[in-house]
Amino acid sequence: MSLSDDLYKEIILEHSQNPSHRGDVIDYTVMEDGVNRSCGDEVQIQLKIEDGIITEVGVKGHGCSISTASSSLMADAIEGMNISDAKDLIKKFKEMVMDDAEVEFPEELEDLSALAGVKKFPVRVKCATLSWNTLEQALKNLQN
Ligand code: ZN
Repeated sequence: MSLSDDLYKEIILEHSQNPSHRGDVIDYTVMEDGVNRSCGDEVQIQLKIEDGIITEVGVKGHGCSISTASSSLMADAIEGMNISDAKDLIKKFKEMVMDDAEVEFPEELEDLSALAGVKKFPVRVKCATLSWNTLEQALKNLQN
């Protein structure tokens, strides 16, 4: 079952106007900054990681509605997830917006499909992937 375009628009609007997980994570384990120069979006992702689980996510920065909605949806999706599942999700999300792949998410992550439409607008793809690329870099830093 796929959600309707109207519902997708509503999800993006809701997350851009009232984004989740805004602010600092006290005693974060790792953080990373990301910039999308083509639009002017800036994001900072802070993660608290305990026993391989992302227990807390903090998002800062400012950007357009697509980048804000994407970072909010991402933060909701990855909090409570283990690192390897989060990495799989990054890959899957990027496939959805950058490739022609038909990507399906499990029910509890279905809201992420709301951003599938950006692939029709190449300029917006960078807005949608900014927070995911920043998360990917943060997880890489963790390994080093
Ligand atoms: Zn943008």
